[in-house]
Amino acid sequence: MALLSVADALALVLADAHPLPLEAATLLDAHGRVLAADLAALRTQPPADVSAMDGFAVRAVDVAVAPTLLHVVAEIAAGRPLDREIGPGEAARIFTGAVMPRGSDTVVIQEVTRRDGDTVVIQRPETRGRHVRPEGLDFKAGNVLIARGKRLTARDVALAGAMNYVAVPVHRRPRVAILATGDELVPPGTPPAPGQIVSSNGFALMAIARSEGAEVVDIGVVADRLDATIAAVRRARAAGVDVLVTSGGASVGDYDFVKPAFAAEGIDLSFWKVAMRPGRPLMHGRLGGMQVLGLPGNPVSSFVCAILFLVPLLRRLAGRSDLSPPSQSAKLGCALPANDERADYLRARLTRGALADGGDIATPFPRQDSSMLAPLAHSDCLVVREPFAPAAGPGDPCNILNLQF
Ligand code: AMP
Ligand code: MG
Repeated sequence: MALLSVADALALVLADAHPLPLEAATLLDAHGRVLAADLAALRTQPPADVSAMDGFAVRAVDVAVAPTLLHVVAEIAAGRPLDREIGPGEAARIFTGAVMPRGSDTVVIQEVTRRDGDTVVIQRPETRGRHVRPEGLDFKAGNVLIARGKRLTARDVALAGAMNYVAVPVHRRPRVAILATGDELVPPGTPPAPGQIVSSNGFALMAIARSEGAEVVDIGVVADRLDATIAAVRRARAAGVDVLVTSGGASVGDYDFVKPAFAAEGIDLSFWKVAMRPGRPLMHGRLGGMQVLGLPGNPVSSFVCAILFLVPLLRRLAGRSDLSPPSQSAKLGCALPANDERADYLRARLTRGALADGGDIATPFPRQDSSMLAPLAHSDCLVVREPFAPAAGPGDPCNILNLQF
């Protein structure tokens, strides 16, 4: 099989991934969920003209010139509308959020008044409509204010509440099983024997999946044996997950059993090599309703592949309309050689606003070894080099992916 471009590989990953079924989320549980239907306001906000300040509700014609004396005929607090009209020469004491009484159209703030029993002296002229929030200023019943496919922020949740929703329709969270492979791997916290290393990939993958709103099932580390790898794939299936992500064992070495295990379980691979660096041995397939992503073992490779393929897959399943993390432009902080046929994702630091025009400078780390977690953790972004990109010098434009994970 020839090397696939990243874009073609992503298209295959997404080809038959569909948003998961709907469920209702109460407002308390709605944060971070993805809206499954456009949300239209069930009410108008504010529901009537209301005062924006503490002061006096008056008729604008009465306060066109000042000072002027008005008779205070009522007091109106928020939530207690007055059933009486304000006539000529009259005013009502009013507080923020209270409904403007009939006849009034303007609020004079208390700071420019002098109250004396049943009268008030307005010391400064005021214009019509001042300090009044008209009915529907924020939104009107029927307005679509949150679109389906949006991951709900704290602000969206507040808005949904103000729109009078108790619960909102969201997509079910994707469920993801994470499996590490390798005889050399031990969990963190155990003293590794000679030749052993600590398994770290799964923690990045689980963190990414969770921050995308998925539930994770940790299958742990499996030995480099065909039977053990097959058993682990079956465990993921039995857990009923939507996605199985493996790391390591994806090449064609004598100890790489992921591909044979996938084949033994009847997983149809849509691809197993992608023209990218880091991360060439990358597999995708399906087993019934379970999407399967076989990521490379090197920590940087599994991370970059997760950003490029797992994140969009989870977003599609979660019903999101924005699938890929957005790319941005910056200027290079150093020279780079011409690229070969594989897209390159270089770990880089970003110096924001470093250029005269306020632009950012991205400087790739000198060593781009796909085993190195420290520079990955210290990176702000990935500099994306397209296949066959020509040599570039300091100050040349480049595309970057910000690392938010
Ligand atoms: P593999 O693709 O299995 O040949 O693994 C490539 C490299 O990544 C090897 O050096 C592995 O030790 C390392 N590796 C594989 N899985 C993990 C993991 N879960 N955590 C840390 N390193 C890993
Ligand atoms: Mg291995």
